[in-house]
Amino acid sequence: MKAHLWPSHDGDAWAARLEADSWSGDLFFERIGEPLPAMGRADALLIASLHAFMTRNAEVVQVHGAVSRTLLRNLDELQHVWSKWLPRVYRRVTIEVEEVVDDGPTGEGAVSAFSGGIDASFTVYRHTVAPAAWHTLPLREVVMIHGYDIGLDETPVFERAVARAEKMTAEAGLQLSKVRTNIRGIAPRWNDTFGLGVAAALQLFADRRSTGLIASGGGYAALVFPNGSSPLHDWMTSSGSMAIRHDGAGYTRTQKLAELSAWPAAVNAVRVCYRGAEHDRNCGHCEKCVRTLLNFKLVGIDNPGCFDNTLDLADIRKVYFANAPMAGEWQALVIEAERRGIAGEWVDEVKRLIRKEKFKATALGRVVSRANRLRR
Ligand SMILES: [Zn+2]
Repeated sequence: MKAHLWPSHDGDAWAARLEADSWSGDLFFERIGEPLPAMGRADALLIASLHAFMTRNAEVVQVHGAVSRTLLRNLDELQHVWSKWLPRVYRRVTIEVEEVVDDGPTGEGAVSAFSGGIDASFTVYRHTVAPAAWHTLPLREVVMIHGYDIGLDETPVFERAVARAEKMTAEAGLQLSKVRTNIRGIAPRWNDTFGLGVAAALQLFADRRSTGLIASGGGYAALVFPNGSSPLHDWMTSSGSMAIRHDGAGYTRTQKLAELSAWPAAVNAVRVCYRGAEHDRNCGHCEKCVRTLLNFKLVGIDNPGCFDNTLDLADIRKVYFANAPMAGEWQALVIEAERRGIAGEWVDEVKRLIRKEKFKATALGRVVSRANRLRR
């Protein structure tokens, strides 16, 4: 079964028609407020649609355009990764292209994807405000992506998130660019594909930047696989003209926050919350907000400016662990508290939460929680 990727330059956007077996989809990327240059290569569109093709009963994917030779080699390796991690979901496909391009970098400096969260802010901080040692890169630009955690129909929310982020990026002397895309509409499983989405958005800037940075999540101390983004495989989205790097994996979330606490712009403007309609501010009560408030406490900040409230212990009791990476983050809080000799009510509360969630993960725990659900 042969699948097809038809790239086109549609007005100011790069678009692609995807066809596989009985399925088809349309994908677009645009730079908000700035037209994209004529598309030399379909690199970004191929990265963004790879998972869709790997799940759609395709043996061969014909790309009706040009692709970087380096990217083709890297995507071959990346397909090994996903077909080994989730063999029932992802199958390898043969990629055929109309033209192979032996390209090299033409841009200057680095561009980093920017959500406004702790990881992305840390990446900005250590390459601009507080450069140190050999890891420092000439970071020139950040890109915020509309269509990932903020829906395409929520333009005012996205613009408020941009305004909040600008407080940080302007101070760091960085250009802030914006991308809009509907990749979530064609991604079979977003938790697997978000890293490819970020890499594709970064590759839109290969005309002026030579390196694209993806901020790490849990880092080397808490590697969990499969994972949509990791130091193991993010580089496999590199093309000849743009190297993609996974940045900051040597630091835990608490260590990142400890460094960031010296930068008031970050303490006042970090955005971690995805809850409700107001994605541009932190609700202060959801799992992510509570965990961030606790991380701030660990580094000695009880009342960070990016929250309207202080920690409410009752919010810890409402938390449940939705996945393994999240459980690891809560475990890390306790380890870090003990390492720093910090004790108190909130540490006991987090320990209780971990015990409760561990019990729920056992066979007996599953029976008990099912019985509790039925009783309600
Ligand atoms: Zn929240």
